Formats: sequence, C-alpha cells, structure tokens
Amino acid sequence: MKRVIVTGGAGLIGSHLCRKLLEQGYDVVCVDNFYTGSKHNIADIVKNPYFELITHDVEESLMINASMIYNLACPASPVHYQKDPVKTVRTSVFGAINMLELAKKSNAKILQASTSEVYGDPAVHPQPESYWGNVNPVGLRSCYDEGKRCAETLFFDYWRQYGVKIKVARIFNTYGPGMSVDDGRVISNFILQALRNEDITIYGDGSQTRCFCFVDDMVDALIKFMDLGDEITGPVNVGDICEISMKELAQKIISISGSKSGIKYLPLPENDPQRRKPDISLIEDLVSWKPVTPLDVGLEETIKYFKEIQS
Ligand code: NAD
Ligand code: UDP
Repeated sequence: MKRVIVTGGAGLIGSHLCRKLLEQGYDVVCVDNFYTGSKHNIADIVKNPYFELITHDVEESLMINASMIYNLACPASPVHYQKDPVKTVRTSVFGAINMLELAKKSNAKILQASTSEVYGDPAVHPQPESYWGNVNPVGLRSCYDEGKRCAETLFFDYWRQYGVKIKVARIFNTYGPGMSVDDGRVISNFILQALRNEDITIYGDGSQTRCFCFVDDMVDALIKFMDLGDEITGPVNVGDICEISMKELAQKIISISGSKSGIKYLPLPENDPQRRKPDISLIEDLVSWKPVTPLDVGLEETIKYFKEIQS
C-alpha cells in the first residue's frame, strides 16, 4: 500500500511534504486541526484525487490503514507553543501515543518530527546526536522541549517493547513559504517588519545564533531518512550548518528586501538558546544529504511569498 499519513500536513513543513509525496506517487492523508496550519497552504493540492484531508486533533485516537506515518502535528513557533502550554504537551505526548498505536496496529513505519530543542540551551557546540542536552524542565519553553523529549522516549519504548518501525529526526530551524503571518518566528517576523518598513525587533543583543534550513531541503532529508531500512531508527539531526547571528540576519533581510527599517532591541526571552548548530555528519553518511539552498536564495523565495500573501 502506498498510503502515507502526514499529521500537521497543513503547516509549514507538512504542506511541502504532502506536495512532494504526491509528486512521488503516494496517496497522502493530511491530518490536521488547523491550530497553526492553514487551508491556504494546501489549497493547490486539496482537489488532487490522491490527497485526503482529515480535520482531526492528534490528541484523539485515529484508525486509518497506512504504510507510513510522518508525525509533524505540533506548533513549532515559541509564540504558538507557549500560548497554551498544556495543549502543547498533550499534542506532543498524546499525539505520539496515538500515532504510535496506529503504526503498531497497521504495521506502518513512523517518523517523528523531533527538534533541536531537545538539546535546550546547549553546552556542546555544534550539537551531535550523542549529546543529551541542557533543558530547563520548568521554564516557559519546557512544554515544547520536554513534550518533544517525552515523545522521543515513547518512540524508542514502542520500538523496544513492540517492535514498531520508528525513525526520529531532530529538526533544526526551518523556514520558507508557508509560514503564517502571525507565526512569530524570527524569519517571518523580520521579513514582515522589513516589508512594512517597521523596526526589526531583535531580542537581546542579537549575538545569539541559529542555522536556517530551507523547507525544500528539510523535506528532501525527511523523505530520504524515512526510505531507509527499518534497522535505522535515528535519532538524526537535520538542518543547515551555516551559523548566523540574529543581528546579521536582520541586516541581511533589510538588504535583500531593500527595506528602510531600523532596528529595535527588546528583552531576550527566558531560556533562549545562545548558540545552535547541528552536527549533520550522521545524516550525511546515511543518505548523502546536504542542504543545498543558500540562505540568500531561500530568503528571496520567502520574501516573495510574504509579498504575495500580503498584497
Ligand atoms: P507549523 O506550526 O507550521 O505546523 C504544525 C502543524 O501541526 C499545523 O498545521 C498545525 O495546525 C498542526 N497541529 C498542531 N497541533 C495539532 C494537533 N493537536 N492535532 C493536529 N494537528 C495539529 O510548524 P512546522 O514548522 O511546520 O513544524 C512541523 C513539525 O516540525 C513540528 O512537529 C515541529 O515541532 C517540528 N519542528 C519544526 C522546526 C522548524 O523550525 N520549522 C524545528 C524543529 C522541529
Ligand atoms: N528572535 C528575535 N526577534 C524576533 C523573533 C525571534 O530576535 O522577532 C530571536 C529569538 O529570541 C531567538 C532567535 O531569534 O534567539 C530564533 O527564534 P525563533 O522563535 O525563530 O526560533 P527558536 O530557535 O528560538 O525556537
């Protein structure tokens, strides 16, 4: 059977993943409750006869037969996941249990969209998969970080205890067309502010770093990882490795968009990681994957997308 479930299929990464899987000849079932995703993201595929949309919250159980499940359902932006932290934990933990039960019953392979946040504010740089992380269990980010860590635990326990075929991908900052206008993550904030010639809001002094992966590269890696044999479980890091500070990012976005924006410094949110960069040698070895979209090119595409949806 070539039926694939994508939970969170109406979100940034999920919508691009659904599109790519359809191109590859799969029957795609998108399961989403539109908490942060949008119908706009899947408007071009919703009438495709091989695409099915199920409006459903992964906190509730689900029974559909499929041969593969990509479990992406979860808000990813700090603004969104901190809005209702209890719901964020429920989505990660109950969502993981429900989708793992589905995988167990239908003998499907299941991939978990985990996160670099399992490393917290890392004391090791760059972060290899062997690093156990530096996570505050009681802070504002904990609902997401600990929810995702518990989901990883559940994946490995279902694998050990029931033999479920799992894959765990630790996704690092990913951006691109499909981000919502109220997303609140840095790339969408900076681009929207630049397009409106408003001050760019840098939190802290802007010296904190991230590496930004274009969404097409991320989807390519996730599919390649899923297609590996059942003996490969991960966890594997997936992300770009070009590290940039938020100050440099602001300057780059102002320059590419030709904006007249100035810069405004605001307080740094609690437990904001100071540096983040993946060690991607494992995924490179496993599937010969490397991100290929330079940041400038990805930003141009994303700026074009925001101009279109704003007009
Ligand atoms: P997104 O917010 O754009 O998409 C998440 C999707 O999940 C949305 O369509 C949303 O409506 C849906 N969703 C949320 N809660 C749900 C629930 N309870 N039931 C059903 N659907 C639900 O986020 P994204 O950037 O596309 O991230 C996708 C996945 O990748 C998430 O699991 C996220 O944690 C992970 N991830 C993303 C990044 C990144 O930088 N984009 C980094 C690390 C991990
Ligand atoms: N950030 C910022 N201005 C904004 C939004 C975010 O300076 O308007 C910073 C944020 O404090 C963090 C970095 O940008 O240091 C990345 O934030 P984002 O929310 O995109 O993702 P995170 O990696 O923190 O989950």
